[in-house]
Amino acid sequence: MKLFSIAIHGGAGTILKSEMTADKEAAYKESLREALRIGYDILKSGGTSLDAVEEAVKSMEDSPLFNAGKGSVFNSEGRHEMEAAIMCGQTLEAGAVAGIRSVKNPVALSRKVIDNSEFVFLSGDKAEEFAKENALPIEDETYFYDAFRYQQWQEVKGSDKAQLDHTVKKDRKFGTVGAVALDQFGNVAAATSTGGLTNKKFGRIGDTPIIGAGTYANNKTCAVSCTGYGEYFIRAVTAYDVSAQMEYSNKSLQESCDSVVLDKMVKLGGEGGLIAIDAKGNVVLSFNSEGMYRAWANSKEDTLNVAIYKD
Ligand code: ASP
Repeated sequence: MKLFSIAIHGGAGTILKSEMTADKEAAYKESLREALRIGYDILKSGGTSLDAVEEAVKSMEDSPLFNAGKGSVFNSEGRHEMEAAIMCGQTLEAGAVAGIRSVKNPVALSRKVIDNSEFVFLSGDKAEEFAKENALPIEDETYFYDAFRYQQWQEVKGSDKAQLDHTVKKDRKFGTVGAVALDQFGNVAAATSTGGLTNKKFGRIGDTPIIGAGTYANNKTCAVSCTGYGEYFIRAVTAYDVSAQMEYSNKSLQESCDSVVLDKMVKLGGEGGLIAIDAKGNVVLSFNSEGMYRAWANSKEDTLNVAIYKD
């Protein structure tokens, strides 16, 4: 069996052990383990990295614990506007969607954009029409509702403040989900999905569905999925910057991620993190916040690792 590897994240931020209950921590770890296992098994049985990242992200979209799919945050009108992207490092094909209200799994829709359209980025009602044409599961608004997210919205509703998921008080974290993988054919892929910012308005779109900002994959270098305050990631072209530093400066994956997350992003004032994988199966899980929900595994060790805090 050839080498394969996968990593996932469920958002980064000020995730303090002192503020976490044992039950909540166990639930997060269980959801992460489940998502990782789904992706890992696909890779183990000879599946593609594109399938592995899509299915791993779908699993987290189905969990209300994360700000993606079910459990997405509310916008200023008390509605959901979800976003997702997926990219194949072998072909550089990419699919992205934004302004999604009723598609159960936005990441699956971004995959359909690759498979069944000649475009890269679809948005709003027409993207939903495309989802229906492709027979993707559709849900009504109540499916996406989560009492905790609703409460978060109540706290900023009516103000001009758009807020990152769980930014209330010190419990600051971003619940976007993502996955990166290397398959047995040597191909990397990345996928990311989010509900965006609580109380966002004016059709705001974050970094998640923007290829090169929140999501990027290229066999020459690496696959990257980001989480954090999207505006900074868009301006820094974060995911592509990791790849470009490897390609043009001959840096390792670790050096590139350190430069982007721990130096450039900090100087810009952005908080968050990313997961990245290179064509040798090296994985980097880097964040400049207190913690990041994350999990990773590779065929060499055959163990599933899950972590939340810095150490
Ligand atoms: N990056 C996402 C956005 O700005 C938020 C997050 O990572 O939770 O929409």
